[in-house]
Amino acid sequence: MATTLSNALLDEILAQVRPLIGQGKVADYIPALAEVPADKLGIAICTVDGKCFSAGDAAERFSIQSVSKVLSLVLAMGLYEDDEIWQRVGKDPSGQPFNSLLQLELEQGKPRNPFINAGALVVCDMLQSRLSAPKQRMLEVVRRLSGVEDLVYDTRVARSEFDHAARNAAIAWLMKSFGNFHNDVMTVLQSYFHYCALKMSCDELAKTFLFLACQGRAPHLDAPVISPLQTRQINALMATSGMYENSGEFAWRVGMPGKSGVGGGIVAVVPHEMSIAVWSPELDAAGNSLAGIAALEILAARIGRSVF
Ligand code: GLN
Repeated sequence: MATTLSNALLDEILAQVRPLIGQGKVADYIPALAEVPADKLGIAICTVDGKCFSAGDAAERFSIQSVSKVLSLVLAMGLYEDDEIWQRVGKDPSGQPFNSLLQLELEQGKPRNPFINAGALVVCDMLQSRLSAPKQRMLEVVRRLSGVEDLVYDTRVARSEFDHAARNAAIAWLMKSFGNFHNDVMTVLQSYFHYCALKMSCDELAKTFLFLACQGRAPHLDAPVISPLQTRQINALMATSGMYENSGEFAWRVGMPGKSGVGGGIVAVVPHEMSIAVWSPELDAAGNSLAGIAALEILAARIGRSVF
């Protein structure tokens, strides 16, 4: 018998996964992320009928990192025809770490999907070609979707990413050598790093991503974000590629479209029902939140939901 949603259920789930803290590793490739306390743990849910639930550190902001890759794709979908996007980036799982260069060389500079770094960088390159102020536009989008006016970039994180940009720069330059990157590499990296450095809480993320559970139009918004077809497409990409080389494992354990970031956040969707955000900074070997996945797995089992 499936349990119904409540703050108490979320408290219970967090208590169950808390012992996992200590078994993962907080991202340490830049100092600004390495300093985040490992024992932070939060979860928030928004339902399509307008209810919100949360527990733990759900109101505390963190660096959303690769969760932003979904938002940049959404932005690009509003500026380009579908074909224009999908001739430059694929729709298939990569089975490789998020910052891998391996397939790019073999596949003539076309990234496997928009949720690995290479794919997100192509998307940011496309945004650069059509927008005069891509960083400002992204802020406008997240402020509108979340209904929170004071969302900002953590400029310290963005600067620190830029100081350690070698690998992402190499990815961009390799794509440029194949003709799949049109703008100045450093300019595009600047917007990509700022998007990664967006600071949001679980509460804000769950609200922001509710449109993916509502065929592209969340009840608190006055207009659709994307079409119902585009919503299904994004959910399909999240289900197959949202957790990098562990996307299959995540589908097996959790059974929902999801997207992670190395800040320890994960956004997940139960189509037609709810959006979920979890945060626990310690990561597994693939760079996905260890306790975050466990919390989603328990939640899915407790409420009896799976898209499969
Ligand atoms: N800023 C990180 C990077 O570009 C984002 C990666 C992630 O969250 N998986 O390497």
